[in-house]
Amino acid sequence: MLNIPIEEEDSLKRLNSSKIFKERNKNFGTRKRVKEVFSSDDEILKKIFDARAAKTLGGCPHCERPFSLFKKIPKKLAFKCKCPYKIHPLKGTHYEQSRTPLTETVELIYELFRNKHGVPATALQRADGGDYDTCLYNLHRASDWMGWSLEGQKFTPGSTIEFDEVYPKAETGLGEYYKFKRGKGSERTHGILVMTERDDPEKGIKGITKAFHFDKTNSKEVEALIKKYVRPEDKHKICTDESDYYTFLSYNGYLHHTINHGNKEYINKETGCSTNTVEGCNERVKTTIHRVYLGVHPEYLQFYINRVAFNHSCRAKNFFEVMDVLFNSLPDFYNCVVRKAKRKSRKRKKKEQYRPAA
Ligand SMILES: [Zn+2]
Repeated sequence: MLNIPIEEEDSLKRLNSSKIFKERNKNFGTRKRVKEVFSSDDEILKKIFDARAAKTLGGCPHCERPFSLFKKIPKKLAFKCKCPYKIHPLKGTHYEQSRTPLTETVELIYELFRNKHGVPATALQRADGGDYDTCLYNLHRASDWMGWSLEGQKFTPGSTIEFDEVYPKAETGLGEYYKFKRGKGSERTHGILVMTERDDPEKGIKGITKAFHFDKTNSKEVEALIKKYVRPEDKHKICTDESDYYTFLSYNGYLHHTINHGNKEYINKETGCSTNTVEGCNERVKTTIHRVYLGVHPEYLQFYINRVAFNHSCRAKNFFEVMDVLFNSLPDFYNCVVRKAKRKSRKRKKKEQYRPAA
């Protein structure tokens, strides 16, 4: 260790981090470069085929030729073996029955990842044309794919994880003049649990983020979510604030540190405990839901949070690395189990609403 005083060490760290941010923004990937790399539907389909073929064991189920000998069928979204066995690479993904071109979906993901607070469906409609409902559905579908890829990723054992909750407002249908309660117990706020893993360059850990919509009235739900995704055997160091939700951690074999925000304590220099990394993600959740998407329906809240969590967990990556993460999250050819985003049926709801009483 060099004998540098603490203040100078901090300023050195800040200089280094500003350099890193500048380089990240330079290498992010411009629109021109993205159009060059993902120039046609065939190229994107080939990438999806390669990513899924690498996960599938063996080769063609009929003649056992390897997948590298398969050829693209012209004017169709399929690949063919020499024996006439066909494989449709989009089957089992979110874009199975989609009619929007793949180049457009890549552009949409680029827009969603470039703007860290999200893009509203109206902005998409203005730029590309088409129906509003289709734009909204495409947006939900892309966010669902991001959530799907996050579900496959796991926290690295031995890392530091921070937990925190946010309470953004959502649509209630109770009207403008309803007297809502204030604070946590309010009818218009929804609970969201955010788990963020800290970056650790010494151990080579690149942290990921997961976020979940939970029922505020059920106190056991937070416990169940944490037990599902974080195991005590992995020996994570866990940092939280003084909330009651996390008291079960120390009885269940987790390494738990708390920080008391009530006493204006934000970082503990002895234990290294702080929740400042999660607060960064919480701020993003609030700004997306309050400032960009004014009034999100609670049924679709998880889609918006998925996108925020995905953007936060890929914060150190450029766009091409992000597309690789998404392609690699797809399942193999035969186990196609992907849940699908629901399509919002606005017209049907309106008809039911205005039906005259008998
Ligand atoms: Zn074959």
